[in-house]
Amino acid sequence: MKVLVIGSGAREHALCRSLSLDPDVTALYCAPGNAGIAEVAELHPVDALDGAAVARLATGLGADLVVVGPEAPLVAGVADAVRVAGIDCFGPSAEAARLEGSKAFAKDVMAGAGVPTARSYVCTTPAEIDTALDAFGAPYVVKDDGLAAGKGVVVTEDVDEAREHALNCVSAGGGRVVVEEFLDGPEVSLFAVTDGRTVVPLQPAQDFKRALDGDQGPNTGGMGAYSPLPWADPKLVDEVLETVLQPTVDELRRRGTPFSGLLYAGLAITSRGIRVIEFNARFGDPETQVVLARLRTPLAGVLRAAADGTLAALPPLRWSEEAAVTVVVASHNYPGTPRTGDPIEGLAEVAELDAPAAYVLHAGTRQEGDAVLSAGGRVLSVTATGADLTEARDRAYTAVARIRLDGSQHRSDIAARVAVEERG
Ligand code: AMP
Repeated sequence: MKVLVIGSGAREHALCRSLSLDPDVTALYCAPGNAGIAEVAELHPVDALDGAAVARLATGLGADLVVVGPEAPLVAGVADAVRVAGIDCFGPSAEAARLEGSKAFAKDVMAGAGVPTARSYVCTTPAEIDTALDAFGAPYVVKDDGLAAGKGVVVTEDVDEAREHALNCVSAGGGRVVVEEFLDGPEVSLFAVTDGRTVVPLQPAQDFKRALDGDQGPNTGGMGAYSPLPWADPKLVDEVLETVLQPTVDELRRRGTPFSGLLYAGLAITSRGIRVIEFNARFGDPETQVVLARLRTPLAGVLRAAADGTLAALPPLRWSEEAAVTVVVASHNYPGTPRTGDPIEGLAEVAELDAPAAYVLHAGTRQEGDAVLSAGGRVLSVTATGADLTEARDRAYTAVARIRLDGSQHRSDIAARVAVEERG
């Protein structure tokens, strides 16, 4: 199978790494990719948002399967363009990707499907915003209606900050903002592959959204993740499949916008039960790094079965008993305006001393001569496996300590609490 992956983050590096280890994959391409992906896939400098260009590239390469990593190309219709060219594509249509692209649309689908989520108001005027903020009280949760790379959400005790963000969303964005009830309880990310009918859940993971230790600082795209979740109810996955994932997929099919690809449920395990915080229409970054580290079933066949509608015939997925932890190394000043262009050193030491249990997945990097330079906010996802989370975590942080990137930042508490708990 010849596979073309679209995207350039650590998620796409994780996908490419797994695909490169799959014996069924005879050729692996990535567009546009990054310095790390170049080690496992042939890179093509095509604009990931240009559906016609991606379809032309896939046709020219003779690709059997295109895997779209990020949300923006999906919302821009790249999966549609690839399918029109007669090539199987892992990723939803632009219409179905609105599940992620519009919070208001997602709320409407959940209401139709009877899926439990936070109560919310979609507001378009200052008066509506004030009414909604008053109705729920503190802590306030205010969400940009459109795509914002995980950074459009403000959760705050400060009503003035909440109001200001809401007014900004209305004036700068699509004219709409979602104000919703605060959900207490731990968060879980659960991915499922689906062909629009059959839904196959993957293993749950937890990510760390805030920039700083102790869940302080602003929201980011994600600063780390771990899997499995030793504290979670063993029946969690079955319950989410039954009450969230399958009803959502069925509702989208009923609406004439079947969803195929990766359905990502961001969940809060509240004192009143499971609630959906958000849906995403693609693999999450950085949870993908830890979930794929544990998947034993070769990846290409799973993605292809979702793309060509044959998931019902797929044998049950096989999982490693090992734990996985990923720690994101980000640029100076992320998630503000990150500084880029700094040399990254120590990558060869990790490859030499820590592999195969620990490895570096690249996000915002680029090659310049022999040097690898930072080229984005999140630069690397340092990922490790181990017999338990404590071991995986130790390995990940040992590898992080070998990496030198001027001004870089990372959280030091990824999976820290759960690692202490698991060893009692
Ligand atoms: P989202 O982009 O919707 O995933 O939101 C980003 C982050 O904001 C989530 O991972 C949560 O940590 C937080 N968040 C979003 N919605 C809520 C909510 N209703 N209650 C509490 N926290 C929330």
